[in-house]
Amino acid sequence: MIDLHAHSIASDGTDSPEQLIQKAADAGLSAIALTDHDTIAGIRPAEKMAQKLGIEFIPGCEISTSTAEGRFHILGLWVPSGNEKFDAYLQHLKDMRKIRNEKIISRFNDFGIPITLKDVEAEAHGSQADYEPSIGRPHFAAALMRKGLVNSRSEAFAKWIGEQGLAYVPKAVPHTEEAIQILAAIGALPILAHPFLKLQDEATLDHLLPRLKQNGLAGIEVWHSKHSQDQVETLQRLAKKHDLGVSGGSDYHGLNKPAIHIGTGENNLRIPYQVLDDLKMSLKRGRSNV
Ligand code: AMP
Ligand code: FE
Ligand code: FE
Ligand code: ZN
Repeated sequence: MIDLHAHSIASDGTDSPEQLIQKAADAGLSAIALTDHDTIAGIRPAEKMAQKLGIEFIPGCEISTSTAEGRFHILGLWVPSGNEKFDAYLQHLKDMRKIRNEKIISRFNDFGIPITLKDVEAEAHGSQADYEPSIGRPHFAAALMRKGLVNSRSEAFAKWIGEQGLAYVPKAVPHTEEAIQILAAIGALPILAHPFLKLQDEATLDHLLPRLKQNGLAGIEVWHSKHSQDQVETLQRLAKKHDLGVSGGSDYHGLNKPAIHIGTGENNLRIPYQVLDDLKMSLKRGRSNV
């Protein structure tokens, strides 16, 4: 079995990249992808650990994007390290996050809530470990809890930082098409992540997929901790119809999403190695077309 979607302390997970790889190996997985939000800072240490443990490693990331039909996360599998163009792109995404985080802080301060960017950054465990983690709302939630300003993560989102929250600021994100194009151009494999997580319906996806494919989309994430069996079947049908590959992963976040386990998700996720073999074929075809 394999898992092609997981987060470390380089974004909003709670395991170091090394711990994450260790857990994947302990779970008996044959392959694991690290796909932190908008960053590849955890790739190198994860790769080293994977070599040591003899587990296949796929360097990846997950980019937040939006297009006419809504907000979508795009997974890039087999992202290169040391690619100037891609590094500059990720730096740009990080700068946009920083601007947004500062706006959220000033909203809190407008409400008289004494929270600082330092408090929030301190919740990104990667800060201490020198991963320059990508900071987002889960870190705000953790800071609010630590200061006793809310009792739970869900209260933090409901009251403050969720879309209906008092301090909510939308993140300025790149166009879905642009992110897909960039990933394809650097020789990575762009995959539409958890298409049903934000309540998109089948008709919307059916309409959207041809356009994303034209821009270089290679596949969709069919298996995911939050997809029902019905949704899995719908996505398999859509992938077939639009001649797209299929991928799958747990979206493991460590203690930030404690119900999700590496490899098995919320219990019964089982993604066979064949899925990875097919994606490798698709990657080869994509690279030879560039
Ligand atoms: P950001 O990229 O900063 O907008 O943060 C997105 C992260 O916040 C994702 O990893 C989500 O899992 C998490 N998130 C979004 N909404 C909620 C919610 N209502 N409760 C808990 N976590 C959430
Ligand atoms: Fe996340
Ligand atoms: Fe996601
Ligand atoms: Zn994810």
